Amino acid sequence: MMNLIVVDLETTGLDIAKDEILQISIIDGMYNTLLNEYCKPDTITEWKEAEAVHGITPEMVKDKPSFHCYVNNVQQLISSAERIVVYNGLDFDLKMLEKYGIPIDYTKAYDLMLEVDKEYRKWFKLVDLANYYGYEFKAHDSLEDTKATLYCYYKFKKELSNKFFDYKSIDFVIEYSHKAAQAKTIGTPDALIVEYVGKYALVRSGVKSYYQNLLFNNKNQLIDSHCTCLDCLDGGNRICKHVVAILMHIRDTNLNVYQSSRGRQNALLKLKKGGQ
Ligand SMILES: [Zn+2]
Repeated sequence: MMNLIVVDLETTGLDIAKDEILQISIIDGMYNTLLNEYCKPDTITEWKEAEAVHGITPEMVKDKPSFHCYVNNVQQLISSAERIVVYNGLDFDLKMLEKYGIPIDYTKAYDLMLEVDKEYRKWFKLVDLANYYGYEFKAHDSLEDTKATLYCYYKFKKELSNKFFDYKSIDFVIEYSHKAAQAKTIGTPDALIVEYVGKYALVRSGVKSYYQNLLFNNKNQLIDSHCTCLDCLDGGNRICKHVVAILMHIRDTNLNVYQSSRGRQNALLKLKKGGQ
């Protein structure tokens, strides 16, 4: 299992340069608490606005150690993790940790809020997303927030994989993507090559100076796709209009990708405009 952690902070405010950490929580992918500590700020003595949100009072942390006491521990947990999951933390929680000298490898960071936004075009508050998935918790306690984030992370991942990798007939993907209208304006591919790779059929194609790779199983179902366009660059599971255009071409020409790939390892099946 991937070494995943979820990180969340409660702070004296939202100004990364000026504000300080009041609580830090880190859990692993099995909901085990790796770290959950309150900290006394070094300089800030009151935080009324933030207090109204998370309820951490100066009294509660007056005997707690400074966050600096936890820096080594946090650094070790962060550097040994393969994936760092945060909720709306890419521009806040992780930057805050950096301020304390903890290096962050952003290629490992996964901001669930941004990923959900890519999928649904909506910024959910954590409490609303958790609600949507049927999870109730006391928000704005960083430990509770990490657990809710992990719960939502698994639900979201499952939802994505259900959408994209359990029901993956060509018709389903075209319909699900809602990009058929855009794809129609693209027209037929400039080139389309079908290859047999392992137990799969790989379609390599080009439209409008972008290149696509589409992988099909023996049921002619799409199991993976990539495109070089900007829409796909950081889109994860997103299906762009170019991929949809290729799928529509495959559908409309009744091309059985898997069968076409048989015995054609590295061979070309080139279909210029109109197909032949
Ligand atoms: Zn594309």
